[in-house]
Amino acid sequence: LFAGETQFVKGVVAMDGLPPADRMEVCFAGRSNVGKSSLINALTGTKNLARASNTPGRTQEINYFTLGEKGFLVDLPGYGYANAPLPVVEKWQRLLKQYLSGRQTLRRAFVLIDARHGVKKVDEDIMSLLDSAAVTFQTVLTKIDKVRKSDLEKSLRITREALAKHPAAYPELVLTSSEKGDGIATLRSIIAGID
Ligand code: GDP
Repeated sequence: LFAGETQFVKGVVAMDGLPPADRMEVCFAGRSNVGKSSLINALTGTKNLARASNTPGRTQEINYFTLGEKGFLVDLPGYGYANAPLPVVEKWQRLLKQYLSGRQTLRRAFVLIDARHGVKKVDEDIMSLLDSAAVTFQTVLTKIDKVRKSDLEKSLRITREALAKHPAAYPELVLTSSEKGDGIATLRSIIAGID
């Protein structure tokens, strides 16, 4: 499903730029710096794939990658930039809302949460958006290699409490480290199992 079959398709800035909805897709969302590019690279087994989406000018685009013929992997812009100008934030929020509620072939969103920081207000906002768009989302903790076991347990508890408030939340969390490889195979098989 992944290795050697993942290619960058395009960056999208408006709904009419989306590729044809002819296969299933999953999307990845998370605060900037949460480790989204690293995770996508680890998942797809390529080093530079998601780097394109982190270059200036690309950061506000919805980036499409192929998962073989089976589907699309969609990299949503990182949110929570402290110093992004308001019109930029509003423009991408509008696009995000349109995308989440209007994309028929979107099967699941993966919301990335830094294991050190837990769920923040901006994450809650995205989760609420997913609730209202009725898009099932699964939470992925990132950078678990950076936290002590006791802190990880605390993070997990807080995250589960937050998820309980969201009807679109999938109860099962995925714990990952792109650095060490934890959870990558699990996440791959979760995606492979989505029709
Ligand atoms: P993005 O902005 O969400 O795409 O985040 P990046 O993937 O660019 O990662 C942000 C920073 O976190 C980089 O310095 C990465 O090297 C680091 N990082 C990402 N994933 C991991 C991880 O699993 N473990 C550790 N220790 N660092 C990570």
